[in-house]
Amino acid sequence: MPERILIVEDEVNIATPVRTYLERAGFEAEHVTHGEEALRRMEEAPPNLVVLDLNLPDIDGLEVCRRIRAVSQVPIIMVTARDDDVDKIVGLEVGADDYLTKPFNVRELVARVKAILRRAPAQPEPVGGVLTHGRVTIDRGRHEVTLGDAPVQLAPKEFDLLWALLEERGHVLTRDQLLERVWGYTFAGDTRTVDVHVRQLRRKLGDDCPIVTVWGVGYKVGDDAGAA
Ligand code: CA
Repeated sequence: MPERILIVEDEVNIATPVRTYLERAGFEAEHVTHGEEALRRMEEAPPNLVVLDLNLPDIDGLEVCRRIRAVSQVPIIMVTARDDDVDKIVGLEVGADDYLTKPFNVRELVARVKAILRRAPAQPEPVGGVLTHGRVTIDRGRHEVTLGDAPVQLAPKEFDLLWALLEERGHVLTRDQLLERVWGYTFAGDTRTVDVHVRQLRRKLGDDCPIVTVWGVGYKVGDDAGAA
């Protein structure tokens, strides 16, 4: 059974090549042009992944994403023309798994679809384990992060990114390494995704878990957080 991709895009000259490339890659692709239609198809024939345009003629793509998220954990790739919404899009507020900015390379989109679906099957966390860094504790088995006694809400990719940084504490990870580890890309993708997620982590964890930018290289968490 081929995996089904729902493309929500009102611009036919974008949707058509996307559909063609996805079908060529072995997926079954359905294209709708409106948000209402997308939400209806979500119920009638739930897809394995949604490619969702941000600017739709009826309901805003962000709202469509929120409504899908309210009922489903299906992977969602947002297609956006606006850079400034990216923090919101991939954060908990909207909950997309990834995003691409127009104009994008269709082959890159297909590569991301494959990467996400490779990781999407509801497989249990590979291993449990708990890492502590100062007041920050990340528990992989329970999928929980706490700051002191307070729980911290992280989006799935933020969680995986924090785990990767803490696991390699004291070492610099390049953006490409982080992309491959957290997002599953095996090519040099759009590394801004990494920057956006690092920004979210910094905002949520603050000085309790300083993520250092190593210019021209990548990111690291120091190995000197108090008694951690
Ligand atoms: Ca549009």
